[in-house]
Amino acid sequence: MFCIVTGGAGFIGSHTVDALVARGDDVVVIDNLSAGSTDNIAGHLKSGRVRLIQADLLDDGWQSAFAGADRVYHLAADPDVRQSAQTPGVQIRNNIVATQRVLDAMREHGVPEIMFTSTSTVYGEATVIPTPEGYTPLHPISVYGATKLSCEALISAYCHSFGMRAWVFRFANIVGERSGHGVITDFIGKLRANPQELEILGDGRQTKSYLDVRECVAGFEYAIAHAKETVNTFNIGSEDWIDVVSIADTIAEEMDLSDVKYSFTGGERGWVGDVPRMQLSVEAMKALGWTPSLGSAESVRKTVRAIVQG
Ligand code: NAD
Repeated sequence: MFCIVTGGAGFIGSHTVDALVARGDDVVVIDNLSAGSTDNIAGHLKSGRVRLIQADLLDDGWQSAFAGADRVYHLAADPDVRQSAQTPGVQIRNNIVATQRVLDAMREHGVPEIMFTSTSTVYGEATVIPTPEGYTPLHPISVYGATKLSCEALISAYCHSFGMRAWVFRFANIVGERSGHGVITDFIGKLRANPQELEILGDGRQTKSYLDVRECVAGFEYAIAHAKETVNTFNIGSEDWIDVVSIADTIAEEMDLSDVKYSFTGGERGWVGDVPRMQLSVEAMKALGWTPSLGSAESVRKTVRAIVQG
C-alpha cells in the first residue's frame, strides 16, 4: 500500500511508520517538525523507504503528495491538554482546521481511507468506568478533547458525504520511547535535574490507564484489518489503571533513587482540563479479536526502563 502519515516524525507517528515499513508499504510522512524530529525516522529516511515532506498542514503545498495514496494515517495534532486551556485557538487550528484540510486533500485526490487518532478526553468526566465507545453524553472538559470530538464529527460527515471509510481510535495514555510529553517524560526530566525532590501536579491520586505504544499500533492495525463499517470507532488502552504516585515510585526505583521527597501542588486534577480518573472499555476490540497483552504498570515500567537506560 501507499500510505501518508501526518505527524509521522512524532512519537506515535514514528512507531506507526515503523510498522508500515515492516509490512512493506510505501510511506510519505508529512510533518512540520514542531514537536516531531527526523531522528525518530532517521533509519527509514536513510534507507529510502520513507519520504519526508516537511510542511505545516495549515499551509499549502503538501496536498499533491496525496495523489495515488491508499490510506491516510492522520496523527498530526497539538496534543497538549494543559496548553489548550491557555491557547485554545492554536489547538483548534492544528487539530480541527488541519483535519478538515486533510479531508479536503483526500477528496481532491480520491484517497478512500483515513485512520484518525482520537482520545479518551472526548468522554470528559465519564460516570461509567471502564468507559465504552457508546457512552454519552460526550462532554469534553478540555479544549483539546473538544477539538478531537469535532474532528471525529467531521470525519464521519466526510465519509458519509464523499464515500470514504474511517477508523477512529480513542486512545488511553500511550507511552513508550520517543515520547516528548506526558507524566513519565516530565518526572524523569525533573528527577534528572534534582534527584532529591519531585513536584507532582495535583494530589498524585489521578488514576488512569496507560498502554505501550507498540501494543497500541498492533491494536489499531488489527482493527483496520478486521472492521469494515463506513466509520469504525474503537477505544484502545490497557485493561487496568495506575495512579500518579505509583508512576513516580516506579521511576525512582528504575533510576535507583531512594528517599525522593514528593511535594504536591494539590487538588484532584493536575491542571485545568485534566480528567482525574480514566479507564476505557476495550470490550469492542476484544470482540473483534484483539486484547492488549500489557497492563498499565507493565507499560509504564517498560517505558521508564527504556528511557532511563537510554
Ligand atoms: P506528538 O506531538 O509526538 O506527534 C504529533 C506530530 O504532529 C509531531 O511530530 C508534530 O511535529 C506534528 N504536527 C503538529 N502540528 C502539525 C501541523 N500543523 N502540520 C504538520 N505537522 C504537525 O504526539 P503523539 O503523542 O505522538 O500523538 C499523536 C496523535 O495521537 C495525536 O493526534 C494525539 O492527539 C493522539 N493521541 C495521543 C495520545 C498519547 O497518549 N500520546 C493519547 C491520545 C491521542
